[in-house]
Amino acid sequence: MPVIVLCKNCERKIILRVKRVKDLPFVYTITCPYCEMTEIYYKKDAKEQDIYRYTCPICNRRFYIDMYKKKFPVKVECPYCKSVLILNNREVLHIIKRGKPPESLMIVTTAIGAILGLSRGLSGAIGGGILGAFIGAILESIINQEELEGKILD
Ligand SMILES: [Zn+2]
Ligand SMILES: [Zn+2]
Repeated sequence: MPVIVLCKNCERKIILRVKRVKDLPFVYTITCPYCEMTEIYYKKDAKEQDIYRYTCPICNRRFYIDMYKKKFPVKVECPYCKSVLILNNREVLHIIKRGKPPESLMIVTTAIGAILGLSRGLSGAIGGGILGAFIGAILESIINQEELEGKILD
């Protein structure tokens, strides 16, 4: 439970039942469990605790781990390529097991194939420029994938 806000009344830490700040609505109300004051809070009022981010040295993709009630160093499996890594609070210390190289290239190729196939079906309806924009948007949505959580191994 690593997302917290400080109560606007008593300034104690209120733990929210979401894992990431991005999962919160832009504006929400909280009733403080300590002083029972109900207040409006914004996304920016919340802070992530015990969340650490890394770039996997094997597949170069970003993931995060939740260190709530855990101690560094930890052994973590990359959620993308399944490499097993030893991490401290700032960086990857060791590579225990190398996972499969990233599949992102393959996914991108498949997505372009699907779009090209679609465009042939709509022959003439979509000009080349628009098609290019489509592919650009698809690529961007694939590249800007959400960060996944790395699994902490025992
Ligand atoms: Zn309070
Ligand atoms: Zn990886």
